[in-house]
Amino acid sequence: MNRLVVMKFGGTSVEDASAILRTAGIVAGRVKKGVRPVVVVSAMARVTDLLISAANTAAHGDRASALAITERLRIRHKDAACQLAARSCGQDQPTPQDPELLATHRWMDAEFDGLDEILRGLAIVGELTPRISDMVVSYGERISSRMIAEAFLRGGISAVHVDARQCIITDAQYGKAIPQDAAIEQRLKQHVLPHLNDGRVPVMGGFIGSTEQGVTTTLGRGGSDFTAAIIGAGIDAAAIEIWTDVDGIMTADPRVCPDALRVRSISFEEAAELAYFGAKVLHPATILPAVRKNIPVFVLNSRNPDNEGTRITALAPHCRSPFKSIAVKKRLTIMDIVASRMLMSHGYLRSIFEVFDRHKCPVDMVSTSEVSVSLSLDSNEKLPAVAADLSKLADVKYEGRKALVCMVGENIRGQSGIAARVFQAVRHVNLRMISQGASEINMSFMIEEDDADEAVRSLHAEFFGDPDPEIFDVEARRSVAEA
Ligand code: ASP
Ligand code: MG
Repeated sequence: MNRLVVMKFGGTSVEDASAILRTAGIVAGRVKKGVRPVVVVSAMARVTDLLISAANTAAHGDRASALAITERLRIRHKDAACQLAARSCGQDQPTPQDPELLATHRWMDAEFDGLDEILRGLAIVGELTPRISDMVVSYGERISSRMIAEAFLRGGISAVHVDARQCIITDAQYGKAIPQDAAIEQRLKQHVLPHLNDGRVPVMGGFIGSTEQGVTTTLGRGGSDFTAAIIGAGIDAAAIEIWTDVDGIMTADPRVCPDALRVRSISFEEAAELAYFGAKVLHPATILPAVRKNIPVFVLNSRNPDNEGTRITALAPHCRSPFKSIAVKKRLTIMDIVASRMLMSHGYLRSIFEVFDRHKCPVDMVSTSEVSVSLSLDSNEKLPAVAADLSKLADVKYEGRKALVCMVGENIRGQSGIAARVFQAVRHVNLRMISQGASEINMSFMIEEDDADEAVRSLHAEFFGDPDPEIFDVEARRSVAEA
């Protein structure tokens, strides 16, 4: 039996005809090696953002602008299909009246007509519900996956388009729906495994799903990686490959730190800590379905397919350096909550966290003393309302433009002197909050956003000056920064 591998290609890996052909080449290469791939694709680059703005624009009553956005998307997709048709016959221009291309344009028009119908309705109703929003954004992956399946077929891959909504069954939390594992496994057996057994390559859109009743849902922004992991777990794949446009997980953001190195191998736990920061490389939730089934995940670069990328496995191989990577999250707010009234009373923390829960406002980092609690939060429009509720319990202050710097590595467990090196390296920076995660594999601190880049460079010089060649790619000291 050949190896089952889920190959996921992000928006930049399918952004135009050239990118799609590159992707087809990578998939064909895997098939030739005897791999049986399931391909998961994102919408073409920036399409999801544009669909969201079309929906918002329509709901604000500006029908013409909304339809202008989808008109450009229609042209972009039809153009890509044209070029794919031409280049599959080695030409610059498609043959006029190419029947396959005409058929493609027909279904694309039907899809975009359907989308425009929804937008016209939105402009009349003037209200965008999460359910309708999911409906609108789903078109990105619905159309990209079908177009890419057709391009693969033209390129000689025996591809078959599978509507991900038939397989990825979720609950009805629109905008961030929760996958239902048992139902998904059963649907994959029905709609995907038979194709694999017959030697076909299923091509599916990431990010989208549907409820048991067939209403379209999405898994949340960046959710295609999650789809790949869900499918990988559902079919017991041998590996999950996340194809993106960077060479894998890096020791730091190469745009900030030109000395950044590729990390060859990292543990699930370390990657999960980092994933939260590096949403560009990997969606955090990707990790979970894969971890559960012990399936290795590879992060690979579709512009540099021979590069071996980063392998994420259950256990970390031994490494000399305490850290694997330094990550930064900007646009954070620190909230200081000082107990004036409820001092020392029990249930105090619970009552505080209930407020965040009620506002569905995620908290990143927490540090407490007897009288005060400091939290870091994504800067967002909910904060004034959260603060207003909290001020019924305590004195509340908050301040934006903060950054969280997080150093991740399993080797900090039980080693002494590391914190001293960290704080020595950033001695010129004013630290606002410090935490060593309960997982014991990360050390994080909050600083002013403006100090973040300099802090990363100092820390990188301190900890990656003499890198372990088993773990870090010392050959290429640079990677292609995400465009
Ligand atoms: N297209 C979706 C997004 O941009 C999902 C993804 O690409 O992972 O969020
Ligand atoms: Mg992504």
